[in-house]
Amino acid sequence: MTRPPAVTPRAMQEALALEDRHLFPTYARAPLRVVAGAGCRLIDDAGREYLDMLGGIAVNALGHAHPRIVGILRDAAAGEGTVLHCSNLYHHPYQGPLAARLAALFGLPRVFFCNSGSEAVEAALKLARARARRLKGETATGVVALEGSFHGRTGFALSVTGQARYRAPFGPLVGGVTFVPPDDPEALRSAVAETTAAVILEPVQGEGGVRPIDAAVLQAARIACDEAGSLLIADEVQCGLGRTGAWSACRQAGVDPDLITLAKPLAAGLPLGALLGREDLTADFGPGTHGSTFGGGPLPCRLALAFLDAVEEERLIEAARDRGAQLMQGLRAIAGRRADAIEKVRGRGLMIGVVLRAPAAGLVDALLEAGVVTCAAGESVLRLLPPFVISAPEVDRFLEAFDAVLGRAWRPAAAGHRPGAVGSAPRVGRDRAPEVRA
Ligand code: PMP
Repeated sequence: MTRPPAVTPRAMQEALALEDRHLFPTYARAPLRVVAGAGCRLIDDAGREYLDMLGGIAVNALGHAHPRIVGILRDAAAGEGTVLHCSNLYHHPYQGPLAARLAALFGLPRVFFCNSGSEAVEAALKLARARARRLKGETATGVVALEGSFHGRTGFALSVTGQARYRAPFGPLVGGVTFVPPDDPEALRSAVAETTAAVILEPVQGEGGVRPIDAAVLQAARIACDEAGSLLIADEVQCGLGRTGAWSACRQAGVDPDLITLAKPLAAGLPLGALLGREDLTADFGPGTHGSTFGGGPLPCRLALAFLDAVEEERLIEAARDRGAQLMQGLRAIAGRRADAIEKVRGRGLMIGVVLRAPAAGLVDALLEAGVVTCAAGESVLRLLPPFVISAPEVDRFLEAFDAVLGRAWRPAAAGHRPGAVGSAPRVGRDRAPEVRA
């Protein structure tokens, strides 16, 4: 790896002090100061190397400093007259080709570009409401969503997020939302009515605890939407674009949604979101109905084309499947030996959750101290979202580290040790509040 840019300890301390003084304290950051990365490795300001099992929460699917991405950035920087932004009032050469690629890969021919997952969800719900209102009348505003879901932090996306603690401070939110259990096809079917504009679900819930939704629930959603004339929205912001071992996690389960939301890995680290939809839905997203100043700019679209090229040419969907199987097998072997600490391991492809018998925060901290980057999903699930480029030896290295940390951090309850007892090593950064979330 090329040497990380020089960051003096003093400059870093000053930066942290300024964060404390001037940032809204919305994030409880872990004490990791990232200055460089390559592949699945991150480097901190002291030159210490970490194995990145989180990929910036499912963003860095190509790892760090992937040569194709670096190549595009070099080219964009070197090009005389480079246009970084031209607004959506005009044309540029990359949105059309990217939309065509996504349309072919996901089987949905129309695309709207934005900047984030929340915005893609926002666009999907607005489109669904506009359509329902046109076809079914003013009262057809309902949305059915799943308990435990996470769809984003903006108004409408937060309103359909099925975890009360995210919504609680911000009411009143958008009305007409019904939550049903994530594992009950009958409950879902009976919640969908003539007044339902859309059903929204994550085919694999991410924030809520890495929970794959049963194919029977996805099928029930499809049937209910067909019967009621509602739209099925698959939120694939975290699970889509190859992570589960297929481009679309919903289609992988045999169900074709009407709308798909994408974001995280799409532009390999720059902000880019997309809403994909059926041809007939163009009637409800005509000129002036929706928009975005930055969405689908030239550089993110070029990077997204390079991301799709890399996934295809380097066979990274197959890699996500193979490395995911290796990781799952290794974790299940450890879980078999450590039933005192691990309830189960679940997930699909390289989206894996280790369901623990106590809060995950202590284990996340202990892994970081051991040089492995992970995070929690919900209270007690350790979440793994490594880059698709992770190698077989790197997966083995993670399994060894995980086993060792678990052995140190989590002795059987009878011995009086729980995770959280670890982390006694001096903290590099500031104290961390109990929650760290995307
Ligand atoms: N949907 C899902 C499934 C997500 O996991 C997330 C982010 N964790 C979002 C939406 C929101 O995405 P963003 O943070 O880019 O707005």
